[in-house]
Amino acid sequence: MLIVKKFGGSSVADAERIRRVAGIIADAYSEGHDLIVVLSAQGDTTDDLIEKAAELNASPSRREMDVLLSTGEQASVALMSMALEKIGLPVVSLTGRQAGIHTNSDYGAARIERVDAERIRSELDRRRIVLVAGFQGINRFDDITTLGRGGSDTTAVALAAALHADICQIYTDVEGVYTADPRKIEGARKLEEITYDEMLELASLGAQVLHNRSVQMAKRYGVELEVCSSFVRKPGTIVKEVTKMEKIKISGVAKDTNTARIAVMGLRDEPGIAFRVFRVLSNSKIIVDIILQSIGRGGTKDISFTVARSDADAAVKVLAAQQSSLGFSELDVSETVAKVSIVGAGMMSASGVATTMFEALYDAKVNINMISTSEIKISVLVDEADADRAVAAIHRKFFDD
Ligand code: ADP
Ligand code: ASP
Ligand code: MG
Repeated sequence: MLIVKKFGGSSVADAERIRRVAGIIADAYSEGHDLIVVLSAQGDTTDDLIEKAAELNASPSRREMDVLLSTGEQASVALMSMALEKIGLPVVSLTGRQAGIHTNSDYGAARIERVDAERIRSELDRRRIVLVAGFQGINRFDDITTLGRGGSDTTAVALAAALHADICQIYTDVEGVYTADPRKIEGARKLEEITYDEMLELASLGAQVLHNRSVQMAKRYGVELEVCSSFVRKPGTIVKEVTKMEKIKISGVAKDTNTARIAVMGLRDEPGIAFRVFRVLSNSKIIVDIILQSIGRGGTKDISFTVARSDADAAVKVLAAQQSSLGFSELDVSETVAKVSIVGAGMMSASGVATTMFEALYDAKVNINMISTSEIKISVLVDEADADRAVAAIHRKFFDD
């Protein structure tokens, strides 16, 4: 079998952990598998590099930032190679560029456009274990790019897709995908399986266990994923198209604090207003999430929406610049909000799921600011200070009651 294994930062944080992971790799190699191993930067390396940059320049160019951040993963693959060499295994470490990972030029959030896999193939043909630095590639100017925080998962899935691997295993510091963050929610349960669609929603709604783009790519190319622990050798969670599990109503609860709410108040209540407000935002490439429009009263209405917290200042700026043409009276911003969501394919065919969620919030005395729903998720916007309590209460209601 050809297996892609990816180990996250905490799994390779120090020499002892690198040795432990080397043991997992050695066992799989001795079973006769071809192995591609993708690694993240050790422990907090990426955060430390970001801090170092900030000491010198508050707004460094994104190109240079990527040159810097990509070094963390490069160090990891070199160190892991040394640990594997030491136990007598044939191994080669490759940077994203050497591995043929080509991306667009969106530094810091680059998308993989293609993988030229010849080098990896020829190394595998020589029965070498191929270690690839995660989270990075090169663009058409031959410059280093990075894929965004948590992007090593996406490197792993891209390689699994390009080389038609039999499975892509994501090793991390928990035993799989749980019904809520197992580090925060007591009683969170490990899922045996989850569909791509549900996993994509959970990852996009704040469960950082998988990079959401890795799930998107796995779905598109039919790459079967397993999320498992690098500390305990047990089966993890399988992510695939269709699960055999009985349809439980919801598969998880997630929290996302990277959100801000903006209210545009006193807009004229007439056709074309929403279009003009959101055109201003989309022209500035600001992605809007939940939208709520009030019922018009006395010829005016309010529109509220959420954006990523990092986009809040820019959104306010572009809207304020258009105040007279859009004709609103006031802008209000809150950065102390959080989005709490439930996800589950089973909710399509079950009634009362929203009611149960809202009852849990009522029991916990959490006020809901906004609501948004789709076929497989319900999200509410709450005050950030209430978010953990909200997640715990919802989780309890669905999984313990
Ligand atoms: P890695 O460094 O291995 O990439 P991450 O920190 O990116 O690891 O992701 C693993 C973390 O995701 C876990 O430690 C856990 O706290 C968090 N997490 C959040 N939601 C979930 C969930 N539903 N299931 C499992 N882990 C979750
Ligand atoms: N080292 C990068 C980060 O911390 C990429 C990754 O770990 O996946 O975001
Ligand atoms: Mg991660």
